[in-house]
Amino acid sequence: MTGAAIYLDHAATTPPRPEVVARIAEVLADAWGNPSSVHGAGRRARAVLDDARDETAAALATESRAIVFTSGGTEAINLAVKGAAWAGKGTGHRIVTTGVEHEAVLNAARFLERFGFEVVVVPVDAEGRPDPDRIVAAVDERTVLVSLQLANNEVGTIVPVADLVARIRRSGPRVPVHVDAVQAAPWMAIDPAALDIDLLSLSGHKLEGPKGVGVLWIRPGAVLLPQLHGGGQERYRRAGTENVAGAAGLARALALSVSEREVVLPRVRAARDRLRDGLLAVPRVRLTGPAEERLPNHLSLLVEGLRGSDLVVALDLAGIAASTGAACSSGSEEPSHVLLAMGVSATEAASALRLTLGRRTEETDVDAALRIVPAAVARLRGEGTGA
Ligand code: PLP
Repeated sequence: MTGAAIYLDHAATTPPRPEVVARIAEVLADAWGNPSSVHGAGRRARAVLDDARDETAAALATESRAIVFTSGGTEAINLAVKGAAWAGKGTGHRIVTTGVEHEAVLNAARFLERFGFEVVVVPVDAEGRPDPDRIVAAVDERTVLVSLQLANNEVGTIVPVADLVARIRRSGPRVPVHVDAVQAAPWMAIDPAALDIDLLSLSGHKLEGPKGVGVLWIRPGAVLLPQLHGGGQERYRRAGTENVAGAAGLARALALSVSEREVVLPRVRAARDRLRDGLLAVPRVRLTGPAEERLPNHLSLLVEGLRGSDLVVALDLAGIAASTGAACSSGSEEPSHVLLAMGVSATEAASALRLTLGRRTEETDVDAALRIVPAAVARLRGEGTGA
């Protein structure tokens, strides 16, 4: 039996906000037309899609034409990586990225290796940040794309993307830069123009919006080859009848997250800090990723002497939804590529636990986690009877 009452896996996905659910229901009922149709039903859907694009653009302090709606973070990333690589094929073949990127980035880049692209995977330090000198050294005039994440999904590390991009810009040719901001939103201000980048990916379901819808922000003027071919939707950048309700839901969720961030962030950070301090007091538990420069809702640990996957099952039974790391790799026996890249041994990586809070996490949820997690750890270690 599952169905944990306390949800501490917001990095995997977030429950959609009631306002978002209401907006999606309203759009599905009233604006169900095909936005490409010229009749009234089509025009109503088009108006909703236009509004969603404007709302998304405003939240990113950018222009509406820079927004392409996709079927999620993975598709946005694939469009960015493959689209930029193929667009640059005439001048170069090098893709520069880091060892802690999401599989969407790493596997898209590896796929491109089969077609003659060269992928340079820059190593990271023990906290998951790439070495700036190695990034700068890897970028040359043959580089078709640099892909960096703003924040890591497994260990919460905030990558100093603005500094890295500034160094890349100072040191050589202007190469396209993509930023995977899927995990960073809604916890950080996302301003692609200020980052001086070309492409940025977001996903609806990480920010209390719906699943199956994402955004690729494309700097006006940036050249990209489409990866889905068909009709002329999304200004010929992404074919297929648009997910109007999904786009409207994502836009509403993003806008609300931006307007509420100042209030939400300190509260969530304080709750996370309390959880962190309590769990780090358990013997042989240590933090992965940085203590400070990490997402405010994110806690990732190594719990010596047990398997993270066993702990996650025990916690589920005790009413807490947690994970070992990336949701898309759970169930896999492979150690996390992120932890390995940070220098954690395969044995230690098997003891990973990730607890990620959300806007609606209560202090009472933290109180419960502070009782239940240490008891489950003790029981799995054979240290006591537990709760
Ligand atoms: N990038 C990061 C950093 C993620 O955490 C995820 C999802 O876990 C993705 C990309 C993929 O997004 P989606 O689930 O919308 O395909």
